[in-house]
Amino acid sequence: MTEYYQASVKEVMKELDVPQHGLTDFEVRYRQKRFGYNELKEGKPKSALQVFLEQFQDFLVIILIFAAIISMFLGDFESSSVIIVVIVLNAILGTIQHIKAEKSLNSLKAMAAPISKVLRDGQVIEIPSREVIVGDILILEAGDYISADGRVIESYSLQVNESSLTGESLAIDKTAQKINEPDVSLGDKKNMVFSGSFVTNGRGQAIVTAIGMDTEIGKIASLLDSAKEKKTPLQVSLDQFGKRLALGIIIICLIIFGLDILRGRELIDSFMFAVSLAVAAIPEALSSIVTIVLALGTQNMAKQNAIIRKLPAVESLGSVSIICSDKTGTLTQNKMTVQKVYTGHQFVEHDQLQMTNMLHKKLVDMAVLCNDSVTQEDKQIGDPTELALVNLGHEYQLNEHIVRGLHQRVGEIPFDSTRKLMSTVHRMGNHYVMITKGALDVLLPRIKRIETANGVSVFTKQHFEKVRQANTDLSNEGLRVLAIAYRVVSLPQIRVEDEKDYTFVGLIAIMDPPREESAPAVADCIQAGIKPIMITGDHKITAAAIAKKIGILKDPSEAIEGIEIEKLSDKELRDKVEQFSVYARVSPEHKIRIVKAWQDKGHVVAMTGDGVNDALALKQADIGVAMGVTGTEVAKDASSMILTDDNFLTIVKAISNGRSIYANIKNAIKFLLSGNAGAIFVVLYATLLALPVPFLPVHLLFINLLTDSLPAIAIGLEPHNKKLMKEKPRNINEPLLNRKFATQVGLEGLVIGAVTIIAFQLGLSTGDTAVGTTMAFATLCLSRLFHGFNCRSDQSLFKIGLFSNLTVWIAFLVGFVLLNLVLIFGWFEVATLESTQILTIYGLAFVPLIIIQTYKLLFAKEN
Ligand code: ATP
Repeated sequence: MTEYYQASVKEVMKELDVPQHGLTDFEVRYRQKRFGYNELKEGKPKSALQVFLEQFQDFLVIILIFAAIISMFLGDFESSSVIIVVIVLNAILGTIQHIKAEKSLNSLKAMAAPISKVLRDGQVIEIPSREVIVGDILILEAGDYISADGRVIESYSLQVNESSLTGESLAIDKTAQKINEPDVSLGDKKNMVFSGSFVTNGRGQAIVTAIGMDTEIGKIASLLDSAKEKKTPLQVSLDQFGKRLALGIIIICLIIFGLDILRGRELIDSFMFAVSLAVAAIPEALSSIVTIVLALGTQNMAKQNAIIRKLPAVESLGSVSIICSDKTGTLTQNKMTVQKVYTGHQFVEHDQLQMTNMLHKKLVDMAVLCNDSVTQEDKQIGDPTELALVNLGHEYQLNEHIVRGLHQRVGEIPFDSTRKLMSTVHRMGNHYVMITKGALDVLLPRIKRIETANGVSVFTKQHFEKVRQANTDLSNEGLRVLAIAYRVVSLPQIRVEDEKDYTFVGLIAIMDPPREESAPAVADCIQAGIKPIMITGDHKITAAAIAKKIGILKDPSEAIEGIEIEKLSDKELRDKVEQFSVYARVSPEHKIRIVKAWQDKGHVVAMTGDGVNDALALKQADIGVAMGVTGTEVAKDASSMILTDDNFLTIVKAISNGRSIYANIKNAIKFLLSGNAGAIFVVLYATLLALPVPFLPVHLLFINLLTDSLPAIAIGLEPHNKKLMKEKPRNINEPLLNRKFATQVGLEGLVIGAVTIIAFQLGLSTGDTAVGTTMAFATLCLSRLFHGFNCRSDQSLFKIGLFSNLTVWIAFLVGFVLLNLVLIFGWFEVATLESTQILTIYGLAFVPLIIIQTYKLLFAKEN
């Protein structure tokens, strides 16, 4: 056949064998089997073996393995093979952790996977976009991502942004008409939609003609880079730090190696020792600890309704100092009910309307007609604002299906949050009547007449004032007000320019109570040094009334309207931005300016959004937060976090989790670095005093195996500490490894080093070097295990609860049991110790815990 764009809708449907009501279940299954999934090919994920082999990529580990093999040939079979076993065990542990982290990140990705709306078997359903098949009828609305190529079969002001394909950033009108010319370029195929583009306006339907790699984007896309691991800023800076630290440690090891040789130690022994020390002391796990803690943390956040789309967001969450939140549905319940109306110069309660009164009837009829929401088998489908109007009709036995059947819709301009209006055209008698509903301030200047019980008259200045006052009165009660007006038009095809010359019918005031949890969540924010800000498309007075109820605003002067923002230059807005906590009648462009103004003031901003036009503001914000329930696919795609319950409280919880995760990462790193520092201090001490080596290579590797990953991850799982939400947000520019942190690492390392040295000296004083080595090894190992408890928090264990993190206990007990097995069975060339010596080890290893806990008890900031 000819190309799809050259064929009529009928021909396309016939060619693709699609019935009017969409594909049947059976057909779907058949086609899915035949054509596969709608996805672009991705690079293959790494296999477990690949991950395992990557664990050996570390240059030093390779050297160590070589050295061990050489030493094996030189006759030291036992210790060399043990070294290799320990290295392999370490690699297995690393692999398991990597796979676990990967798994939880993948499940997170699946949760945020895009969805499409399709018509199948007469029902509009939402399905994961990867399940869209050729022949599906895509239902397209503003904010939807188009998941496959398709031929448009219906268009109501349908506009699509195809910039990802053509580079053209202006939206393109789409129609269902066939195009007769041959060889039309992609950009001119006005009756086709393409995968990767998105709907900016209007609505429509399209039959899928190509999926996956057969789509236009599939043809040009090379492999997606999603399989590549992307590092977060913290990981990047830790990697850089790790490299510098590694260099320092290698220099120390070289010096130790040189001194050892000078003192006449065997070359291979000195070499093995130096390399083992380097392997044990270089914290190669830094960046992977971050991945694991982030991955496990995000899983926890997902359970609390926040799905993280971009990992770096978790790090920035802890620094958020401004939350710009939508009102409707986020701070409020989005359970809208009509409270009262204003018509014929009178306020009437919602249950006092009379359908015998023509004006009342007209107002309700029009509210139901200019409306896309429906009740289907007891299910309410659509925008809550519109459902409130449908339900008002139900109160008076007006069924929307019947009303809409009587006055068929023949034209429309869908609602958009920038225009703040929605218009539909209906056949009424011999006329086409355009009904418009929307924000009164937008409609008011366009009203020319008013309909009252006495008929239609000119809309005078007095009328103007009266209606405006009525709107203010309703808004002051925190009600959301919609105005309804109409005009007769000559043609059903209307354009935005036709939205004028109206006859005013009335106002409908809708209640949308704040969520119960909003006020406490706002209070939590303020306590945590975060300023909550309301940004809404709603009226200023309504917004201020709700904001006051939940504690966002104290004085009405803190509210400003979008139109006033337009009068301010960027600099003026920046200077004034701190005065405002409510921004009303805001359009998406204002949102971007507000975010920038706060950012210029040095703040880290989280901003919520749901509409297609919010995408830029979401990208501009440090944390773009998309609504999972009411949000469009475009908004979700632009965001770094999705709220599955659209709830403000969830943002606050996510921030609190973000703070926890960051603190946990910091503590885990502190644990690693201070323990390693302890080991280095001991070796330096022994080398400088020309004592025998305090550890055998295998001891260092064993300590590395036991005390590196398990306790560090356990610390990373520390439950949330309430104290964190009483602190100010962390300065995002403050490096994790600051001077205070380095001092703490150094001092704690020193304490661990000191007790190990004491144990070493006590052991040496028996005259048996092996006892010295064994005591040093066991004390270092055990004190590091105990130190895991120290690193759980800045606060003392008594404050945070000794048993509030059981994983730290598990990590400790595993290490403790293994260490004792080594001592009992004399593995790893340890000497047999007397029980007093073992008790001395226990006692000494416990000392850092006592010292550090006492310090914390006395000096830690208690909140
Ligand atoms: P938020 O940004 O907090 O979610 P909002 O939902 O009130 O606020 P919009 O949905 O952009 O913001 O609505 C802005 C205004 O547009 C409303 O105050 C109302 O007057 C009008 N409006 C909202 N929904 C509709 C609709 N379905 N049809 C016509 N007008 C509407």
